[in-house]
Parts: sequence; structure tokens; C-alpha cells
Amino acid sequence: MTHLKAWQEQLAPEETAVIFSTVSRRYLTGFTSSDGVLVTTREEALLYLDSRYYEMAQIAQSRGRIPENVILRPFIFPKEFEERIKDGLVSKVLFEDKRLTVSELRKLERNFADAEFLPIGERLDRLRMVKDRDEIRAIAGAQALAEEALAHLLPLLSPDRTETWVAAELERYMKLHGAEKPSFETICISGTRTSLPHGRPENIKLTDGGFLTMDFGCVLDGYCSDMTRTVCIGRATEEMKTVYNTVLRAQLAGVAAAKAGVSGKDVDKASRDVITEAGYGEYFGHSTGHGCGLQVHEAPYFAPKADNLIPAGAVLSVEPGIYLPGRFGVRIEDLIAVTENGCENLNRSSKELVEIV
Ligand code: ZN
Ligand code: ZN
Repeated sequence: MTHLKAWQEQLAPEETAVIFSTVSRRYLTGFTSSDGVLVTTREEALLYLDSRYYEMAQIAQSRGRIPENVILRPFIFPKEFEERIKDGLVSKVLFEDKRLTVSELRKLERNFADAEFLPIGERLDRLRMVKDRDEIRAIAGAQALAEEALAHLLPLLSPDRTETWVAAELERYMKLHGAEKPSFETICISGTRTSLPHGRPENIKLTDGGFLTMDFGCVLDGYCSDMTRTVCIGRATEEMKTVYNTVLRAQLAGVAAAKAGVSGKDVDKASRDVITEAGYGEYFGHSTGHGCGLQVHEAPYFAPKADNLIPAGAVLSVEPGIYLPGRFGVRIEDLIAVTENGCENLNRSSKELVEIV
């Protein structure tokens, strides 16, 4: 699952890319390290690692987890890079403008004053947007595990459970069944707190007769999942049902609008229009969806200003919501893999309103 070749093919002969971010190094080489530098040209790839990772990388490469053409180097990046610049082997240096801090860039420019530094811009993100079959399989696997956790949890829910218990139980299940970790801090909120789209779970009991919103996911094989379900603890009122079903219709409209070649804002609009027409437009403040892969939030986006066209192979969330301040909120979220003619929904679990009685 590495993408080094595709990346190298789109580099110009005079370009050298220096990759400092963990996520991009992982994407291109398949190897995860908290530190290190990957230097790539059209012809070459050098991975500089310190003693914490060097031997691990040698083992990973011997097992085929790092492409053969990656040259592993103990950490002598600055010295060797300087020599390459002096020898005229490096002139234009691409840096990750979205992931490097200003001070890190200044330091690079100071240390390698003879090179010209240019931003990578969207070039790496555009590659990452298009997931290959193995990546989609990994994300689908992570999502299936999250859904299993939910199926395990539902029969255990009652007004005696607390928000933190519910969050812990979801995370515990996913970890016990192979997840590396949650893909983000589990959101688990109940009662009037469901109007807070990203509220943190608290050590308080679930509200009888209130909603419970669970937004969670895990990392499996390096890839993230992300899903949200809102259930009712006890019976829902007519108004709660109306809001729930409006969000559900909006979610289905977003999924139905997604296909290769549409713009991110068109899908957002398809979903948002349902909520606006039902009179709840002002209570849906966030965008409809985001890409998901090695990172739980990544390009592309379903958002009101997203002009970008969505490519086949992109994996995104569709997650509209309605949040009535001080009263209650509902969000429903699936992940979809965009195809030429539509999309494949990576979720299987029901979206009909569940009342825990
Ligand atoms: Zn989510
Ligand atoms: Zn999400």
C-alpha cells in the first residue's frame, strides 16, 4: 500500500521533494515513524531515520513493507543534503507547505541557502484523495469494526449508563478486536448536550427520553474510520422524530448526489437543501463531509465553498446534522467510496431511529 511510484512519476526532473510529516512518509513508503526525512526525486528515494527507527525500517523492508527502491539511511540528512546541493544534484526543493511550520521552513532555507524552496501545494493531497482498492478495503475494515462495536453496545444501553461509559465501551470493543487506537476522541453526548456537535463525553447518566449521539471510529492497518449514530434512550417525541427523519433524509440525499466529477459543494447542497426546506437551515452549521484515509479529516470536502471536483476513489463522510441549542441535536454519518456512477456506502448498520426501551 505505498504510493511512491505514482508520486515520483509526477515530479519534474529538477524537483526534489523533502517530506518531513509522518503521514506523508507513511503514505509514500508504508513506514510509520514519528521522526525522519524522506527525500524523493523522479529517480531516487532516500529515507533518513535515526537509531530509534533505522533497524525497524530495515526489518520492514526485508519483509516487503517498504518498497525495495527506497534507500534507507541512518540520520545524516542535513550533511548529505548539503553535499547534494553543492554538487548541483538538488536545485528546486519542494516542501510540505501545509505541514511544515514557518520556523521549520526558515531553518531549512538558512541551512540550505543555495536551493530554491517551493511549496508542494495540493500535489500530494491530490494523490492521497484517490484511494486504491487496498486502501478502500482498509477503511471499510475499520468502519466494519466500528459498526460491530455499535452492535455490541446497543443492547447494553440504558438510562443508568454514563456518557463516559458508552465512549469507553465502544473504544474497548474496537481495541479488543484489533484496532490500533480510536481514530479521534470518541464523541458521546446525551440529552440536551446533543446540541453540541463536538461535545466531550462526561461522567453523567444518559437522559431518559433524550437522544444519545455517538461519533466514533478506529484505526486499522493505518487507516481511519468515522461514523455517527444518534439513538433515543426511551421514547422520542414527535418533534424529535421529525428532526431525526429530516437529518436522515438529508443524509440519504447527500449519498445519492455523490459521484465522480461532481463538485464538493453540489453534494453539500443536496444534503443542506433538505434541512433548509424543512426550516432547520440555521441549525446546520458545519459542512456535510470530509475525506477520510490515513487521517480522519483530509481532502476532499463536501462543503458550501468546495469547488473541487470529487474523483472516483475518494472516500468521504456524509454527516449532516441539526442542532437546536439547549434542547437536542441529531447527526447521522456514513463513509462512502465515490465511484464513476455513484458511490459505495461503507456502512451497513441501520439509520432508522432506534428507541432504547
Ligand atoms: Zn464523525
Ligand atoms: Zn466525520
